Amino acid sequence: MTSAHRPVRVRIAPSPTGNCHVGTARGALYNLLFARQHNGIFVLRIDDTDQKRSTEDSETGIYAGLRWLGLTWDEGPDVGGPYGPYRQSERLDLYGDAARHLLEVGRAYRCFCTPEELEAERRSALARGHPPRYSGRCRHLTARKVRAKLATGAEHVVRLRIEPKLMVVDDLVQGKVTQDAALLGDPVIVKSSGMPVYHFATVVDEHAMDISHVIRGAEHLNNTFPQIQMYEALGYLPPAFAHIGLLLNPDRSKIGKRNGAVYIGEFAALGYLPETLINHLALSGWSPGTDAEIFSFDELLHYFSLERCSASNAIFDRDKLLWLNGVRIRELPVSELTRQVRPFLVNAGLLAEPERGVRLESIIALEQQRMKTLNEAPELLGFFFHDPDPVTAAALLGRDRFTRKRSGHALREGLESTLQALEALDARSWTVIKLSEVLDDLVVALGWKRGEFFMTLRIAASGKQATPSLYETLEALGRPATLRRLRAVVGALPARNDRTLPSNAQETASLLPSNPML
Ligand code: GLU
Repeated sequence: MTSAHRPVRVRIAPSPTGNCHVGTARGALYNLLFARQHNGIFVLRIDDTDQKRSTEDSETGIYAGLRWLGLTWDEGPDVGGPYGPYRQSERLDLYGDAARHLLEVGRAYRCFCTPEELEAERRSALARGHPPRYSGRCRHLTARKVRAKLATGAEHVVRLRIEPKLMVVDDLVQGKVTQDAALLGDPVIVKSSGMPVYHFATVVDEHAMDISHVIRGAEHLNNTFPQIQMYEALGYLPPAFAHIGLLLNPDRSKIGKRNGAVYIGEFAALGYLPETLINHLALSGWSPGTDAEIFSFDELLHYFSLERCSASNAIFDRDKLLWLNGVRIRELPVSELTRQVRPFLVNAGLLAEPERGVRLESIIALEQQRMKTLNEAPELLGFFFHDPDPVTAAALLGRDRFTRKRSGHALREGLESTLQALEALDARSWTVIKLSEVLDDLVVALGWKRGEFFMTLRIAASGKQATPSLYETLEALGRPATLRRLRAVVGALPARNDRTLPSNAQETASLLPSNPML
Protein backbone atom coordinates (compact mmCIF):
# COMPACT_ATOMS: atom_id res chain seq x y z
CA MET A 1 0.00 0.00 0.00
CA THR A 2 1.45 3.40 -0.90
CA SER A 3 1.00 6.29 1.50
CA ALA A 4 -1.50 7.90 -0.88
CA HIS A 5 -3.90 4.95 -0.54
CA ARG A 6 -3.93 4.61 3.21
CA PRO A 7 -7.01 5.51 5.22
CA VAL A 8 -6.63 9.20 5.96
CA ARG A 9 -5.25 10.03 9.39
CA VAL A 10 -3.77 13.50 9.76
CA ARG A 11 -2.45 15.43 12.71
CA ILE A 12 -1.17 18.66 14.09
CA ALA A 13 1.59 18.56 16.67
CA PRO A 14 1.73 21.95 18.39
CA SER A 15 4.35 22.64 21.03
CA PRO A 16 2.71 23.93 24.22
CA THR A 17 5.20 26.76 24.60
CA GLY A 18 2.72 29.56 23.96
CA ASN A 19 -0.92 30.15 23.27
CA CYS A 20 -2.87 29.11 20.20
CA HIS A 21 -1.00 30.84 17.35
CA VAL A 22 -2.64 31.69 14.01
CA GLY A 23 -0.16 29.33 12.35
CA THR A 24 -1.34 26.47 14.56
CA ALA A 25 -4.95 27.37 13.81
CA ARG A 26 -4.31 27.39 10.06
CA GLY A 27 -2.63 23.99 10.31
CA ALA A 28 -5.58 22.66 12.29
CA LEU A 29 -8.08 24.02 9.77
CA TYR A 30 -6.35 22.55 6.71
CA ASN A 31 -5.84 19.18 8.39
CA LEU A 32 -9.41 19.07 9.65
CA LEU A 33 -10.84 19.97 6.23
CA PHE A 34 -8.70 17.33 4.59
CA ALA A 35 -9.70 14.71 7.16
CA ARG A 36 -13.42 15.49 6.82
CA GLN A 37 -13.24 15.43 3.03
CA HIS A 38 -11.75 11.94 3.13
CA ASN A 39 -13.75 10.48 6.01
CA GLY A 40 -10.50 10.48 7.90
CA ILE A 41 -9.37 11.13 11.44
CA PHE A 42 -7.84 14.34 12.74
CA VAL A 43 -5.38 13.84 15.60
CA LEU A 44 -4.08 16.46 18.02
CA ARG A 45 -0.72 15.42 19.38
CA ILE A 46 1.12 17.56 21.89
CA ASP A 47 4.81 18.00 21.11
CA ASP A 48 6.12 18.63 24.61
CA THR A 49 9.59 17.18 24.16
CA ASP A 50 10.97 20.58 25.18
CA GLN A 51 10.06 20.07 28.82
CA LYS A 52 11.58 23.36 29.97
CA ARG A 53 9.40 25.51 27.75
CA SER A 54 6.22 23.42 27.72
CA THR A 55 3.46 24.46 30.09
CA GLU A 56 0.05 23.15 30.99
CA ASP A 57 -1.43 26.62 30.51
CA SER A 58 -0.21 26.72 26.93
CA GLU A 59 -1.70 23.30 26.30
CA THR A 60 -5.11 24.36 27.60
CA GLY A 61 -4.75 27.65 25.72
CA ILE A 62 -4.24 25.73 22.48
CA TYR A 63 -7.35 23.61 23.14
CA ALA A 64 -9.39 26.70 23.99
CA GLY A 65 -8.28 28.57 20.87
CA LEU A 66 -9.05 25.68 18.55
CA ARG A 67 -12.41 24.98 20.20
CA TRP A 68 -13.41 28.64 19.99
CA LEU A 69 -12.74 28.41 16.25
CA GLY A 70 -14.92 25.32 16.09
CA LEU A 71 -11.97 23.12 15.07
CA THR A 72 -12.40 19.83 16.88
CA TRP A 73 -10.15 16.80 16.87
CA ASP A 74 -11.06 13.13 16.94
CA GLU A 75 -8.12 11.95 19.02
CA GLY A 76 -5.93 13.86 21.45
CA PRO A 77 -4.66 14.06 25.02
CA ASP A 78 -7.96 15.38 26.34
CA VAL A 79 -10.34 13.23 24.27
CA GLY A 80 -8.27 10.06 24.19
CA GLY A 81 -8.27 7.59 21.31
CA PRO A 82 -6.91 4.20 20.31
CA TYR A 83 -3.37 5.44 19.56
CA GLY A 84 -2.69 7.25 22.84
CA PRO A 85 -1.09 8.60 24.83
CA TYR A 86 -1.07 11.75 22.73
CA ARG A 87 1.52 13.75 24.64
CA GLN A 88 5.05 13.02 23.51
CA SER A 89 6.36 13.29 27.07
CA GLU A 90 4.24 10.21 27.83
CA ARG A 91 5.69 8.22 24.94
CA LEU A 92 9.39 8.37 25.79
CA ASP A 93 9.77 4.58 25.92
CA LEU A 94 8.81 4.29 22.28
CA TYR A 95 11.48 6.77 21.22
CA GLY A 96 14.04 5.05 23.42
CA ASP A 97 13.27 1.67 21.83
CA ALA A 98 13.51 3.12 18.33
CA ALA A 99 16.86 4.82 19.08
CA ARG A 100 18.28 1.60 20.58
CA HIS A 101 17.18 -0.29 17.51
CA LEU A 102 18.97 2.17 15.22
CA LEU A 103 22.12 1.91 17.35
CA GLU A 104 21.98 -1.89 17.17
CA VAL A 105 21.60 -2.01 13.39
CA GLY A 106 24.28 0.61 12.92
CA ARG A 107 22.04 3.35 11.49
CA ALA A 108 22.76 5.53 14.51
CA TYR A 109 25.87 6.17 16.57
CA ARG A 110 26.88 7.88 19.76
CA CYS A 111 28.58 11.22 19.39
CA PHE A 112 30.78 12.51 22.18
CA CYS A 113 31.75 15.84 20.61
CA THR A 114 31.50 18.64 23.14
CA PRO A 115 29.54 21.81 22.41
CA GLU A 116 32.87 23.68 22.21
CA GLU A 117 34.23 21.27 19.60
CA LEU A 118 31.04 21.55 17.57
CA GLU A 119 31.15 25.33 17.75
CA ALA A 120 34.78 25.39 16.57
CA GLU A 121 33.86 23.07 13.70
CA ARG A 122 30.96 25.31 12.77
CA ARG A 123 33.12 28.43 12.75
CA SER A 124 35.81 26.89 10.63
CA ALA A 125 33.22 25.63 8.11
CA LEU A 126 31.74 29.12 7.88
CA ALA A 127 35.20 30.65 7.52
CA ARG A 128 35.84 28.35 4.57
CA GLY A 129 32.54 29.39 3.05
CA HIS A 130 30.91 25.99 3.69
CA PRO A 131 27.48 25.52 5.21
CA PRO A 132 27.97 24.48 8.83
CA ARG A 133 27.13 20.86 9.39
CA TYR A 134 28.41 18.10 11.58
CA SER A 135 31.60 16.60 10.15
CA GLY A 136 30.78 13.05 11.25
CA ARG A 137 33.81 12.85 13.49
CA CYS A 138 32.28 10.22 15.83
CA ARG A 139 30.85 8.14 12.98
CA HIS A 140 33.80 5.85 12.94
CA LEU A 141 34.52 5.39 16.64
CA THR A 142 35.24 1.73 17.33
CA ALA A 143 32.95 -0.20 19.67
CA ARG A 144 35.82 -0.38 22.14
CA LYS A 145 36.34 3.39 22.14
CA VAL A 146 32.63 3.95 22.63
CA ARG A 147 32.54 1.53 25.57
CA ALA A 148 35.54 3.23 27.13
CA LYS A 149 33.96 6.66 26.81
CA LEU A 150 30.68 5.41 28.22
CA ALA A 151 32.54 3.89 31.15
CA THR A 152 33.88 7.34 32.03
CA GLY A 153 30.31 8.66 31.96
CA ALA A 154 31.09 10.99 29.05
CA GLU A 155 28.09 13.00 27.89
CA HIS A 156 26.91 12.09 24.43
CA VAL A 157 24.08 12.41 21.95
CA VAL A 158 22.81 9.87 19.43
CA ARG A 159 23.00 10.77 15.76
CA LEU A 160 21.41 9.22 12.70
CA ARG A 161 23.85 8.02 10.06
CA ILE A 162 22.60 9.82 6.94
CA GLU A 163 22.87 7.81 3.74
CA PRO A 164 24.47 10.05 1.13
CA LYS A 165 22.18 9.95 -1.89
CA LEU A 166 19.98 12.18 -3.96
CA MET A 167 16.59 12.39 -2.29
CA VAL A 168 13.34 13.38 -4.00
CA VAL A 169 10.15 14.18 -2.15
CA ASP A 170 6.96 14.42 -4.14
CA ASP A 171 5.29 17.01 -1.96
CA LEU A 172 1.56 17.45 -2.51
CA VAL A 173 1.90 21.23 -2.43
CA GLN A 174 5.53 21.99 -3.27
CA GLY A 175 5.82 19.41 -6.05
CA LYS A 176 9.05 17.46 -6.51
CA VAL A 177 11.74 18.73 -4.15
CA THR A 178 15.24 17.28 -4.26
CA GLN A 179 18.04 17.26 -1.75
CA ASP A 180 21.55 15.88 -1.85
CA ALA A 181 21.58 14.01 1.47
CA ALA A 182 25.39 14.17 1.55
CA LEU A 183 24.96 17.83 2.47
CA LEU A 184 22.74 17.15 5.45
CA GLY A 185 25.13 16.22 8.22
CA ASP A 186 24.12 13.51 10.67
CA PRO A 187 21.22 14.87 12.75
CA VAL A 188 20.92 14.36 16.50
CA ILE A 189 18.01 12.08 17.35
CA VAL A 190 18.52 11.78 21.13
CA LYS A 191 19.89 14.65 23.20
CA SER A 192 22.47 14.25 25.95
CA SER A 193 19.60 14.49 28.44
CA GLY A 194 18.20 11.30 26.94
CA MET A 195 15.21 13.18 25.47
CA PRO A 196 14.49 12.58 21.80
CA VAL A 197 14.62 15.56 19.46
CA TYR A 198 11.28 16.45 17.99
CA HIS A 199 12.14 15.28 14.47
CA PHE A 200 12.80 11.82 15.70
CA ALA A 201 9.82 11.66 18.05
CA THR A 202 7.55 12.83 15.25
CA VAL A 203 8.76 10.07 12.90
CA VAL A 204 8.20 7.41 15.55
CA ASP A 205 4.75 8.83 16.28
CA GLU A 206 3.62 9.25 12.67
CA HIS A 207 4.30 5.56 12.25
CA ALA A 208 2.84 4.44 15.57
CA MET A 209 -0.26 6.54 15.00
CA ASP A 210 -0.67 5.46 11.39
CA ILE A 211 -0.52 9.01 10.07
CA SER A 212 -1.13 9.01 6.31
CA HIS A 213 -0.48 12.68 5.45
CA VAL A 214 1.65 15.31 7.14
CA ILE A 215 0.18 18.69 6.27
CA ARG A 216 2.21 21.50 7.83
CA GLY A 217 3.98 24.79 7.24
CA ALA A 218 6.84 25.09 4.75
CA GLU A 219 9.24 25.91 7.60
CA HIS A 220 9.42 22.12 8.05
CA LEU A 221 10.22 21.29 4.43
CA ASN A 222 13.97 21.04 5.04
CA ASN A 223 13.38 18.81 8.05
CA THR A 224 11.53 16.38 5.85
CA PHE A 225 14.70 14.93 4.31
CA PRO A 226 16.39 13.85 7.55
CA GLN A 227 12.97 12.69 8.73
CA ILE A 228 12.54 10.53 5.63
CA GLN A 229 15.92 8.99 6.31
CA MET A 230 14.68 8.20 9.83
CA TYR A 231 11.58 6.50 8.40
CA GLU A 232 13.77 4.48 6.07
CA ALA A 233 16.24 3.54 8.77
CA LEU A 234 13.40 2.31 10.97
CA GLY A 235 11.78 0.44 8.07
CA TYR A 236 8.64 2.60 8.19
CA LEU A 237 6.52 3.73 5.27
CA PRO A 238 6.70 7.56 5.27
CA PRO A 239 3.42 9.49 5.11
CA ALA A 240 2.62 11.75 2.17
CA PHE A 241 3.82 15.32 2.75
CA ALA A 242 2.13 18.65 2.03
CA HIS A 243 4.06 21.78 2.96
CA ILE A 244 2.01 24.97 2.78
CA GLY A 245 3.75 28.32 2.19
CA LEU A 246 4.57 30.23 5.37
CA LEU A 247 2.22 32.71 6.94
CA LEU A 248 3.85 36.17 6.84
CA ASN A 249 3.10 39.78 7.70
CA PRO A 250 2.29 42.08 4.76
CA ASP A 251 5.90 43.37 4.92
CA ARG A 252 6.93 39.71 4.43
CA SER A 253 8.45 39.48 7.90
CA LYS A 254 7.77 36.44 10.06
CA ILE A 255 4.37 36.75 11.62
CA GLY A 256 4.89 37.96 15.15
CA LYS A 257 3.50 40.04 17.98
CA ARG A 258 5.20 43.23 16.87
CA ASN A 259 2.73 43.59 14.02
CA GLY A 260 -0.43 42.98 16.01
CA ALA A 261 -2.36 40.08 17.43
CA VAL A 262 -1.08 36.57 16.67
CA TYR A 263 -2.93 34.42 19.18
CA ILE A 264 -6.47 33.25 18.65
CA GLY A 265 -7.42 34.41 22.16
CA GLU A 266 -6.31 37.93 21.27
CA PHE A 267 -8.55 38.00 18.21
CA ALA A 268 -11.45 36.75 20.31
CA ALA A 269 -10.87 39.53 22.87
CA LEU A 270 -10.71 42.12 20.10
CA GLY A 271 -14.14 41.06 18.95
CA TYR A 272 -13.46 39.00 15.86
CA LEU A 273 -15.94 36.27 15.02
CA PRO A 274 -14.59 32.72 14.85
CA GLU A 275 -16.06 32.35 11.37
CA THR A 276 -14.09 35.41 10.20
CA LEU A 277 -10.82 33.87 11.30
CA ILE A 278 -11.69 30.53 9.73
CA ASN A 279 -12.56 32.30 6.48
CA HIS A 280 -9.40 34.41 6.55
CA LEU A 281 -7.05 31.58 7.50
CA ALA A 282 -8.51 29.48 4.72
CA LEU A 283 -7.62 32.19 2.22
CA SER A 284 -4.14 32.72 3.70
CA GLY A 285 -2.51 29.73 2.04
CA TRP A 286 -5.28 28.36 -0.14
CA SER A 287 -7.09 29.90 -3.08
CA PRO A 288 -10.52 28.93 -4.41
CA GLY A 289 -9.40 29.87 -7.92
CA THR A 290 -12.20 32.47 -8.16
CA ASP A 291 -12.77 35.96 -6.74
CA ALA A 292 -15.01 34.57 -4.00
CA GLU A 293 -13.94 35.81 -0.58
CA ILE A 294 -16.66 34.71 1.79
CA PHE A 295 -16.64 31.07 2.83
CA SER A 296 -18.44 29.25 5.57
CA PHE A 297 -16.85 26.14 7.05
CA ASP A 298 -19.25 23.98 5.03
CA GLU A 299 -18.31 25.76 1.82
CA LEU A 300 -14.66 25.26 2.64
CA LEU A 301 -15.37 21.58 3.12
CA HIS A 302 -16.74 21.58 -0.38
CA TYR A 303 -14.07 23.63 -2.13
CA PHE A 304 -10.83 23.17 -0.19
CA SER A 305 -8.09 21.09 -1.78
CA LEU A 306 -4.38 20.63 -1.22
CA GLU A 307 -3.84 21.14 -4.96
CA ARG A 308 -4.97 24.73 -4.57
CA CYS A 309 -2.81 25.40 -1.52
CA SER A 310 -0.01 27.81 -2.11
CA ALA A 311 3.59 26.64 -2.23
CA SER A 312 4.81 30.19 -1.86
CA ASN A 313 4.40 32.22 1.29
CA ALA A 314 1.01 33.66 2.15
CA ILE A 315 0.29 37.02 3.71
CA PHE A 316 -1.78 37.27 6.85
CA ASP A 317 -3.41 40.61 6.13
CA ARG A 318 -4.97 42.09 9.27
CA ASP A 319 -6.67 44.94 7.34
CA LYS A 320 -8.42 42.36 5.23
CA LEU A 321 -9.36 40.47 8.37
CA LEU A 322 -10.97 43.60 9.81
CA TRP A 323 -12.91 44.23 6.62
CA LEU A 324 -14.03 40.62 6.52
CA ASN A 325 -15.19 40.78 10.13
CA GLY A 326 -17.39 43.79 9.31
CA VAL A 327 -18.89 41.87 6.38
CA ARG A 328 -19.57 38.84 8.54
CA ILE A 329 -21.04 40.92 11.37
CA ARG A 330 -23.47 42.49 8.90
CA GLU A 331 -24.51 39.03 7.73
CA LEU A 332 -25.32 37.69 11.21
CA PRO A 333 -28.94 37.45 12.34
CA VAL A 334 -29.33 40.21 14.91
CA SER A 335 -30.23 37.71 17.63
CA GLU A 336 -26.91 35.94 17.06
CA LEU A 337 -24.99 39.22 16.94
CA THR A 338 -26.66 40.20 20.21
CA ARG A 339 -25.58 36.93 21.80
CA GLN A 340 -21.99 37.57 20.76
CA VAL A 341 -21.94 41.28 21.68
CA ARG A 342 -23.48 40.79 25.12
CA PRO A 343 -20.25 39.67 26.90
CA PHE A 344 -18.46 42.78 25.60
CA LEU A 345 -21.16 45.01 27.07
CA VAL A 346 -21.09 43.09 30.34
CA ASN A 347 -17.28 43.36 30.53
CA ALA A 348 -17.46 47.09 29.91
CA GLY A 349 -19.83 47.36 32.88
CA LEU A 350 -22.67 48.59 30.67
CA LEU A 351 -24.89 45.62 31.12
CA ALA A 352 -25.54 43.53 34.15
CA GLU A 353 -26.53 39.92 33.70
CA PRO A 354 -29.47 39.54 33.36
CA GLU A 355 -29.90 42.69 31.31
CA ARG A 356 -31.92 45.51 32.76
CA GLY A 357 -34.92 45.76 30.50
CA VAL A 358 -32.89 47.41 27.73
CA ARG A 359 -34.15 46.42 24.34
CA LEU A 360 -30.78 45.07 23.43
CA GLU A 361 -31.52 43.61 20.03
CA SER A 362 -33.05 46.80 18.66
CA ILE A 363 -30.08 48.79 19.92
CA ILE A 364 -27.54 46.41 18.46
CA ALA A 365 -29.39 46.29 15.15
CA LEU A 366 -28.80 50.05 14.87
CA GLU A 367 -25.02 49.63 14.84
CA GLN A 368 -24.82 46.38 12.93
CA GLN A 369 -23.89 48.20 9.73
CA ARG A 370 -21.04 50.11 11.28
CA MET A 371 -19.51 47.62 13.68
CA LYS A 372 -16.28 46.02 12.46
CA THR A 373 -15.34 44.24 15.67
CA LEU A 374 -17.52 43.28 18.62
CA ASN A 375 -15.36 45.21 21.05
CA GLU A 376 -16.45 48.46 19.38
CA ALA A 377 -19.91 47.84 20.82
CA PRO A 378 -19.34 49.49 24.24
CA GLU A 379 -18.02 52.65 22.57
CA LEU A 380 -20.73 52.72 19.90
CA LEU A 381 -23.62 51.75 22.14
CA GLY A 382 -22.54 52.95 25.57
CA PHE A 383 -24.74 56.06 25.38
CA PHE A 384 -27.86 53.91 25.38
CA PHE A 385 -26.98 52.61 28.82
CA HIS A 386 -25.80 55.75 30.61
CA ASP A 387 -27.32 59.22 30.49
CA PRO A 388 -24.69 61.62 29.22
CA ASP A 389 -23.40 64.20 31.63
CA PRO A 390 -25.58 67.27 30.78
CA VAL A 391 -22.77 69.77 31.37
CA THR A 392 -20.48 67.93 28.99
CA ALA A 393 -23.30 67.68 26.46
CA ALA A 394 -23.92 71.45 26.78
CA ALA A 395 -20.20 72.05 26.22
CA LEU A 396 -20.29 69.90 23.13
CA LEU A 397 -23.21 71.94 21.80
CA GLY A 398 -20.98 74.97 22.20
CA ARG A 399 -18.24 73.37 20.12
CA ASP A 400 -20.04 71.48 17.42
CA ARG A 401 -19.84 73.16 14.04
CA PHE A 402 -23.61 72.94 13.47
CA THR A 403 -24.81 74.05 16.87
CA ARG A 404 -22.17 76.54 18.05
CA LYS A 405 -23.63 79.34 15.88
CA ARG A 406 -26.63 79.61 18.21
CA SER A 407 -26.36 81.11 21.67
CA GLY A 408 -26.68 78.84 24.63
CA HIS A 409 -30.02 80.43 25.41
CA ALA A 410 -31.33 79.85 21.87
CA LEU A 411 -30.28 76.23 22.09
CA ARG A 412 -32.13 75.96 25.36
CA GLU A 413 -35.29 77.44 23.83
CA GLY A 414 -35.05 75.07 20.88
CA LEU A 415 -34.73 72.10 23.22
CA GLU A 416 -37.62 73.33 25.37
CA SER A 417 -39.86 73.43 22.29
CA THR A 418 -38.65 69.96 21.34
CA LEU A 419 -39.46 68.69 24.82
CA GLN A 420 -42.96 70.10 24.60
CA ALA A 421 -43.55 68.46 21.25
CA LEU A 422 -42.17 65.12 22.39
CA GLU A 423 -44.03 65.12 25.70
CA ALA A 424 -47.22 65.22 23.67
CA LEU A 425 -46.36 61.81 22.21
CA ASP A 426 -47.42 58.99 24.48
CA ALA A 427 -45.40 55.79 24.92
CA ARG A 428 -47.36 53.95 22.24
CA SER A 429 -46.71 56.71 19.69
CA TRP A 430 -42.97 56.64 20.38
CA THR A 431 -42.15 55.26 16.96
CA VAL A 432 -39.87 56.30 14.14
CA ILE A 433 -42.86 57.35 12.06
CA LYS A 434 -44.50 59.53 14.72
CA LEU A 435 -41.19 60.97 15.86
CA SER A 436 -40.31 61.96 12.32
CA GLU A 437 -43.73 63.59 11.78
CA VAL A 438 -43.49 65.65 14.95
CA LEU A 439 -39.86 66.66 14.60
CA ASP A 440 -39.99 67.42 10.86
CA ASP A 441 -42.89 69.81 11.56
CA LEU A 442 -41.10 71.34 14.50
CA VAL A 443 -37.91 72.17 12.63
CA VAL A 444 -40.00 74.06 10.08
CA ALA A 445 -41.96 75.87 12.79
CA LEU A 446 -38.78 76.89 14.56
CA GLY A 447 -37.19 78.08 11.36
CA TRP A 448 -33.90 76.30 12.18
CA LYS A 449 -31.68 74.64 9.65
CA ARG A 450 -32.16 70.88 9.78
CA GLY A 451 -28.47 70.32 10.49
CA GLU A 452 -28.44 72.50 13.58
CA PHE A 453 -31.75 71.26 14.88
CA PHE A 454 -31.02 67.56 14.59
CA MET A 455 -27.48 67.91 15.88
CA THR A 456 -28.81 69.79 18.92
CA LEU A 457 -31.24 66.99 19.59
CA ARG A 458 -28.68 64.27 18.90
CA ILE A 459 -26.11 65.73 21.27
CA ALA A 460 -28.70 66.41 23.98
CA ALA A 461 -30.09 62.86 23.78
CA SER A 462 -26.83 60.97 23.40
CA GLY A 463 -23.95 63.22 24.36
CA LYS A 464 -22.40 62.31 21.00
CA GLN A 465 -22.09 63.91 17.58
CA ALA A 466 -22.38 60.60 15.75
CA THR A 467 -25.14 58.09 16.39
CA PRO A 468 -27.18 55.82 14.18
CA SER A 469 -30.15 57.45 12.45
CA LEU A 470 -31.65 59.90 14.93
CA TYR A 471 -35.27 58.78 14.84
CA GLU A 472 -34.30 55.15 15.28
CA THR A 473 -31.95 56.10 18.07
CA LEU A 474 -34.71 57.99 19.89
CA GLU A 475 -37.15 55.15 19.36
CA ALA A 476 -34.69 52.63 20.79
CA LEU A 477 -33.75 54.95 23.64
CA GLY A 478 -37.40 55.16 24.60
CA ARG A 479 -39.62 57.98 25.80
CA PRO A 480 -38.63 58.26 29.47
CA ALA A 481 -34.87 58.28 28.83
CA THR A 482 -35.13 60.73 25.93
CA LEU A 483 -37.26 63.22 27.88
CA ARG A 484 -35.10 62.89 30.98
CA ARG A 485 -31.93 63.58 29.02
CA LEU A 486 -33.34 66.59 27.16
CA ARG A 487 -34.56 68.11 30.44
CA ALA A 488 -31.14 67.66 32.00
CA VAL A 489 -29.38 69.42 29.12
CA VAL A 490 -31.95 72.23 29.16
CA GLY A 491 -31.01 72.70 32.81
CA ALA A 492 -27.33 72.99 31.89
CA LEU A 493 -27.90 75.73 29.29
CA PRO A 494 -28.29 79.42 30.24
CA ALA A 495 -31.86 80.49 31.07
CA ARG A 496 -31.46 84.10 29.96
CA ASN A 497 -30.03 85.58 26.83
CA ASP A 498 -27.37 87.21 28.87
CA ARG A 499 -23.64 87.35 28.42
CA THR A 500 -23.22 87.35 32.19
CA LEU A 501 -23.89 83.80 33.17
CA PRO A 502 -25.48 83.04 36.54
CA SER A 503 -22.87 82.12 39.12
CA ASN A 504 -23.47 78.36 39.01
CA ALA A 505 -23.38 78.52 35.23
CA GLN A 506 -20.12 80.46 35.44
CA GLU A 507 -18.59 77.55 37.29
CA THR A 508 -19.94 75.32 34.63
CA ALA A 509 -18.61 77.59 31.92
CA SER A 510 -15.12 77.46 33.35
CA LEU A 511 -15.18 73.72 32.80
CA LEU A 512 -16.23 74.16 29.21
CA PRO A 513 -13.99 74.77 26.27
CA SER A 514 -14.30 78.43 25.17
CA ASN A 515 -17.64 79.07 23.58
CA PRO A 516 -18.23 82.64 22.52
CA MET A 517 -21.95 82.00 22.31
CA LEU A 518 -22.53 80.86 25.89
N1 GLU B 1 5.90 20.95 17.02
C1 GLU B 1 6.18 21.32 15.67
C2 GLU B 1 5.83 22.77 15.50
O1 GLU B 1 5.01 23.26 16.26
C3 GLU B 1 5.31 20.50 14.72
C4 GLU B 1 5.91 20.36 13.40
C5 GLU B 1 5.18 19.31 12.57
O2 GLU B 1 3.99 19.52 12.30
O3 GLU B 1 5.78 18.31 12.21
O4 GLU B 1 6.39 23.44 14.67
